[in-house]
Amino acid sequence: TDTILEVNNLKTYIFTRAATVKAVDGISFDLKKGETLGLVGESGCGKTTTSKLLLRLEKPTEGEILLDGEDISTFRGSQLQEYRTTVQAVFQDPWSSLSPRMRVRDIVSEPLVVNRNVTTQEKNERVAEVLAQVGLHSQQANNYPHEFSGGQRQRIAVASALVSYPKLIVLDEPVSALDVSIRAQVMNLLKDLQEQYNVSYLLIAHNLATVRYMAHQTAVMYLGQIVEYADTEELYGNALHPYTKALFSAALPSHPDLIREDIVLQGEVPSPINPPSGCRFHPRCPFAMPQCSEEVPVEKEVSPGHRVSCHLY
Ligand code: SF4
Repeated sequence: TDTILEVNNLKTYIFTRAATVKAVDGISFDLKKGETLGLVGESGCGKTTTSKLLLRLEKPTEGEILLDGEDISTFRGSQLQEYRTTVQAVFQDPWSSLSPRMRVRDIVSEPLVVNRNVTTQEKNERVAEVLAQVGLHSQQANNYPHEFSGGQRQRIAVASALVSYPKLIVLDEPVSALDVSIRAQVMNLLKDLQEQYNVSYLLIAHNLATVRYMAHQTAVMYLGQIVEYADTEELYGNALHPYTKALFSAALPSHPDLIREDIVLQGEVPSPINPPSGCRFHPRCPFAMPQCSEEVPVEKEVSPGHRVSCHLY
């Protein structure tokens, strides 16, 4: 499979008068065409900043984001507008991402008409097609968002994200606001459409089961850095970094087929303003050794595609 997205040593520092916040601090990953990369970690680990960087809502301080080999941080004007149709997003809350005064037709077709000459007939046909693909009826294009259930509104958001045949969709907590009973439906829909469109997803989710179900690869972030990265099944079956193990212990306590040790996460995530020296996880790590507070661990590839940053390996 070909790589669609390549992120190299990406950094976002927010400079305030009092301090420098290292929201994202040197992350690198690849995403292949038609595949999903899951990003997991506690709040404040840099997942949301990463998604904003990919959507070009923020610019990186350093590093590259290459989409099909082109560095998106250099995009301006019409190139940037074109990029905004190529990379789409689906957010957690279908209410807040859908404008209440717009008809579904106009919401869904928005990415299609930006910067393009599309006739009304073409627009209507494409909207009807994509609504059918997400399981809605073409006549529902005339309705307003409040006339739909939460699950249906998320289907509308998915239709809008897909209408312009994007290369990449950022899924930021796409099912966490939905009733548990309809989460699986929306996840299956996203998987089916990924196959149909050969589109890549960057999935941000707190729910580790969601990531396991959806993502081909998973990256674990801690304080702005990726501490472990592997194929999802490898990571869930053979987590190595103490932080990953702790996340899994906390979130999936009764999962039968996960090999894990019970590690309890102590304390809160430290502030990214003044992150701990050496390994940033050392104040919370039950395996911390003297060198951990002094030396930054170098990332090692412990098996093909499985990378971990920890002095234990
Ligand atoms: Fe724990 Fe040291 Fe590994 Fe950091 S480098 S996760 S402190 S053992």
